[in-house]
Amino acid sequence: MRGIYVHVPFCVRKCGYCDFYSVAGGEEERDGFPALVEREMDLLLRSYPGEAGVPADTVYFGGGTPTVLGPGRLNRLLAGIRARIPVAEDAEITTEANPGTVTGDDFARLREGGFNRVSLGVQSFRPETLAALGRIHSVEDVRAAYLDARRAGFSSVGIDLIFGNPGQGGVEWQEDLDLAVTFLPDHVSAYALTPEPGTTIHTAIGGGAIALPDDDTVARMYTAARDTLRAVGYRHYEISNFARPGKECRHNLKYWRRDGYLGLGPSAHGLLFPGGSAPFGLRTANPPSLPDYVRALGEGRLPWGSTRASGMEDAWKESLIFGLRMEEGVSPSSIEKRNGPPPEPVRGAMEKLIESGVLLREGDRLRLPERHWFVSNEVLQRLA
Ligand code: SF4
Repeated sequence: MRGIYVHVPFCVRKCGYCDFYSVAGGEEERDGFPALVEREMDLLLRSYPGEAGVPADTVYFGGGTPTVLGPGRLNRLLAGIRARIPVAEDAEITTEANPGTVTGDDFARLREGGFNRVSLGVQSFRPETLAALGRIHSVEDVRAAYLDARRAGFSSVGIDLIFGNPGQGGVEWQEDLDLAVTFLPDHVSAYALTPEPGTTIHTAIGGGAIALPDDDTVARMYTAARDTLRAVGYRHYEISNFARPGKECRHNLKYWRRDGYLGLGPSAHGLLFPGGSAPFGLRTANPPSLPDYVRALGEGRLPWGSTRASGMEDAWKESLIFGLRMEEGVSPSSIEKRNGPPPEPVRGAMEKLIESGVLLREGDRLRLPERHWFVSNEVLQRLA
């Protein structure tokens, strides 16, 4: 089974910290978007006819702000996917939703269209923090959206939070966490703010106009998230993700377990295994530009700005680097079964990390100890 990711490239306004590809887009562009993605799928299936037979058990609409399209266009897009690629009856079908862009009626219609999971971009419950981040929604919008999603009958409602925000200290973050758990979400993502170059927050920090909490404070915030969420029954199943048992995001697990997924829409990335031929995957990347995406499709070609064939070494590195983000870690023998024996440089790097205690060997599994989770990028880079 595979996943399908659709990047919806529209946002009402750019948030101050965000470097995901999105544009405002007018009604005409939004109206035309489902047909573009359908065209992309048709071109893909013409070039790789075997892909039409690989069923999907997760479909994820991200962005951007998918809910800017409204339920009519999102449901049409989902129906367009189902018409081309078999989607399992019990598939997890998620849309991200910005609380400022959805009504109760929208959620009800999305449920009717087949969506069963929603991920709400809350980020904070403090008006000052929402303003500092440049979010368009209010705390009241969050309450309303959450309750509307529940009432509509989504089987899983998740909340995304950001910590390490300008003007935020440990006390304010703890207040956000305490409020978040009162909603009883099925899933919580908590990411540290990382202002990317080119964003307005990055520029404001560079100019001294705002400051972020220091690294030690941010590290304590991470621990506070883990302690607070675990204490009320969430599993810390991935470095930045928590879920009630059984409510883990099945789509994101595909990325971490290096399963295949289609990436549709501007800036979307995919991983195909034509002919089911692991480890020899094909990584695809669409251009982060709606005009370039439209042009390619108009010319009758796949919009892939770049493709990269991944071989055995990539397969091993990716399986370890992504897999070790999860609490469950990885099973080297399963990776070997799928991809062949580890190439020498990978085996060497892995052994070195085990010997120095950076990785734990537990029976057949390798895990990253919790003390390294907050600095996982640094640690896992040693496997790259
Ligand atoms: S709504 Fe999401 S994708 Fe859009 S600008 Fe804000 S953070 Fe980025």
